[in-house]
Amino acid sequence: MNDFHPRVGVFEDLRFDNRFVRELPGDPVAGNTRRQVNGACYSRIEPARVCRPELVAYSREMVESLGMYRGPRDDQGPESVPFAEIFCGNRLLPGMDPFATCYGGHQFGSWAGQLGDGRAINLGEVIDINGQHQTLQLKGAGLTPYSRTADGLAVLRSSIREFLCSEAMHHLGVPTTRALSIVATGEEVVRDMFYDGHPRVEPGAVVCRVAPSFTRFGSFELFTARREFALLRQLADYTIRHDFPHLGEPCKKTYVEWFENVCRHTADMIVNWMRVGFVHGVMNTDNMSVLGLTIDYGPYGWLEGYEPDWTPNTTDAAGRRYSFGNQPQIALWNLMRFANAIYPLIEEERPLRDALEAFSDEYARGWRTMMAGKLGLRRFDTETDDALIKELNNVLQLVETDMTLFYRSLADINIDVETAAAQSDEDLLAPITGAYFAADELTGEYKARMSGWLRDYIRRSSRDALSAETRRNNMNAVNPKYVLRNYLAQLAIDRSEQGDHAMVADLLDVLRSPYDEQPERLEFAKKRPDWARNRPGCSMLSCSS
Ligand code: AMP
Ligand code: MG
Repeated sequence: MNDFHPRVGVFEDLRFDNRFVRELPGDPVAGNTRRQVNGACYSRIEPARVCRPELVAYSREMVESLGMYRGPRDDQGPESVPFAEIFCGNRLLPGMDPFATCYGGHQFGSWAGQLGDGRAINLGEVIDINGQHQTLQLKGAGLTPYSRTADGLAVLRSSIREFLCSEAMHHLGVPTTRALSIVATGEEVVRDMFYDGHPRVEPGAVVCRVAPSFTRFGSFELFTARREFALLRQLADYTIRHDFPHLGEPCKKTYVEWFENVCRHTADMIVNWMRVGFVHGVMNTDNMSVLGLTIDYGPYGWLEGYEPDWTPNTTDAAGRRYSFGNQPQIALWNLMRFANAIYPLIEEERPLRDALEAFSDEYARGWRTMMAGKLGLRRFDTETDDALIKELNNVLQLVETDMTLFYRSLADINIDVETAAAQSDEDLLAPITGAYFAADELTGEYKARMSGWLRDYIRRSSRDALSAETRRNNMNAVNPKYVLRNYLAQLAIDRSEQGDHAMVADLLDVLRSPYDEQPERLEFAKKRPDWARNRPGCSMLSCSS
């Protein structure tokens, strides 16, 4: 049993209301032996104790929004010993009631049966300062009944990646689960990073993730696959009542509307991924949030050179199922699995099919608006802009071009038609040359094609008659200057593994304002250096984390 400390500084301010365990059926069996858990949404389980917890970083916005941080009591704040003890799982606060949830999923296109929180332990639900329930979840806090053959742990490298990316995505305006903290455990964890017979001992860590709900498509799929229809209905009703309360009391009609809502939220999330160049890497249905939040940051990556078929996940290198350009299609495939899972609640195919259209419609609409925004256009004009974007998509792939820098520098193009007519191709290209990995190797043929596109683009943009300042401000509000470049995360990891965690906080700080010019932080906006091109962790990742 963990120690209970009735007063541990600011943490006493946390208010718990554990609806999930109170309202849904739990597993009657105790303990963490690996097993099939039938007839239950979760199993109660306590986090494992760790030997030497040490705070690596925390998100000050999350501390505040959970209502933990009050004034100058720094000695009892996030830097204090109790904070690390609580958010590695060593100490439970009064009101916490830890549990792991039961879910299944389709992995890489095949049904995988029961998966569940194999290394995630929910501590409880906190009411945040806005009155919303937020589940606190430790990732890497030890074995649960769902750990299967694995160890229930997480390594520092992948925990830093999850912590930073959750917060970076939030600041970019992408729907996501959040991260409160990352604590190194002082324990050693063995990982064979590329499953090639080279295991290495790595430092362990625990991230505290936060979301209104961690329920996944796979949560519903499992109950339907097992024909546990009463449980399916209970979880659906629970989700509608608490996470989609505007839909009203659950009934057939509500289930369909709920599904349509999930389709729309998912479409919005994917449009945002495409906007910022994010590749999730493992879009299995167990990694799809029913709230449309980006969830489970594993072998994700950021598009650097613009290559739609790029995937950061070496496990997916052959099929490229989860490549950048495939993400919308895979989201739709996953929504179909979700539709099948909730079919028993509706027993009619037609309304589900119609609702699925909502995804395609919402995605198409959202994508157009998003692309118009990236190009600084007032609105998408099908007549001209489909062709304009198609050609851009082709040209960007001809030579290695950093996606983030390209769009950011496009705002610097002078869109005055007469000025452009008088400019040479070379001069026209000047503002965007920083986006090329090898600007001095561009051929005449390439320059002619790209400047041809730029001239079309200038003609199109000038039609909108926006002032240069408005256009630039609009573009800079949707085209980030700073993203969590794969090599930057790796540099922070390298230092952190040596005991110096400062770069994690530095990166978080830069990524708090991704759309702002931060002249003193320019090194964080640089494109990938050559040493990182093929370095594991920078361009190649795996599910091993
Ligand atoms: P992921 O690919 O990270 O979404 O994980 C898929 C499934 O494997 C989930 O059920 C996870 O909980 C489980 N899993 C992944 N890594 C571990 C681990 N180290 N220990 C226990 N379960 C794990
Ligand atoms: Mg997962």
